[in-house]
Amino acid sequence: MPRPIEALIHRHALAHNLARARAAAPDARLFAVVKANAYGHGIERAYEALRGADGFALLDLAEAERVRALGWRGPVLLLEGVFEPRDLELVSRLELWHVVHCREQIDWLAAHKTERPQRVFLKLNSGMNRLGFPPAAFRAAWARLDALPQVGEVSLMTHFSDADGAPGIAHQLAAFEDAARDLPGERSLANSAAILRHRVPAVAGDWVRAGILVYGSAPDFPAHDIGHWGLQPTMTLRSRLIGVQPLEPGDTVGYGSSFTASARMRIGVVACGYADGYPRHCPSGTPVLVDGVATGTVGRVSMDMLAVDLGPVPTAGPGSEVTLWGEGPHGTRLAIDEVARAAGTIGYELMCALAARVPTRSVD
Ligand SMILES: *Cc1c(COP(=O)(O)O)cnc(C)c1O
Repeated sequence: MPRPIEALIHRHALAHNLARARAAAPDARLFAVVKANAYGHGIERAYEALRGADGFALLDLAEAERVRALGWRGPVLLLEGVFEPRDLELVSRLELWHVVHCREQIDWLAAHKTERPQRVFLKLNSGMNRLGFPPAAFRAAWARLDALPQVGEVSLMTHFSDADGAPGIAHQLAAFEDAARDLPGERSLANSAAILRHRVPAVAGDWVRAGILVYGSAPDFPAHDIGHWGLQPTMTLRSRLIGVQPLEPGDTVGYGSSFTASARMRIGVVACGYADGYPRHCPSGTPVLVDGVATGTVGRVSMDMLAVDLGPVPTAGPGSEVTLWGEGPHGTRLAIDEVARAAGTIGYELMCALAARVPTRSVD
């Protein structure tokens, strides 16, 4: 028998969440963001459920090839554009759309021999200070692109740094509207947090870019959870108990003896560790379900195992089902965001870190 850990990708939930994005921005076209191997879900596993999108957005050229290999003939946008001049050959061959965020990328386009003009998304740095032209250089970049025979349609985009929180997007939206004023072309501004929290046409623009919401994690957790946004978990990580230990007061658990029993208790040992992608720095008490019953982890997470408190589940024993996140038995559920919070991180990081050694399959 293989080690009992496995991950499930819930196709119906992916399609459901995509529909939520569509409903929140009904007048925009919708990129499903599938970078990082569809946020750890697997592009091939997620594809069928997401092909209701109008386009796919990602940043790895090999991933763009995989999307085309699945038969997708619609838009595919490279969110960071090309990384070197010869990438433009692949862009031409696969008919990709690409972001242009710096002068060098325009130089490469100007030197590129292509028969068919390419569609580009000119990116404004509206305040995040990651990629994009500063406002003062934006119009000149647009004029240069517009004059190139290698370039067809020029669209305009920016990315928000605080769509999920209190600072909000007003200052970046104003910077974008100012820089883009009177320029023709389609607009793309909104990520998941902006799609859900800032529902006005100026923010939705012509194309929204839905990432994390599609994968059943709330972009603004803990202010709101997936229930609030009507989203469903798309990834379940589950395993089983492979051992049980009775503890006496003073007994310790795991490496570093970081947990000491203060009373008699039973713990279960789960076939899941940090080599599976479960975060090592989760403290004791990180939420977990055993046979669908909520309990917490105990002691340090090791490479292949972690321990859980069986106090709330006295009937549990070897073979009992353990839900690390996602859908549990009998309709129970543990949001990935709850586990991420305990680990001091966000749902994005946990799903992207699912290890290749975990057998993964999609289910309806
Ligand atoms: C990753 C990414 C997105 C999607 O962000 P989510 O928060 O996952 O919705 C949108 N736009 C760009 C440029 C990105 O890199």
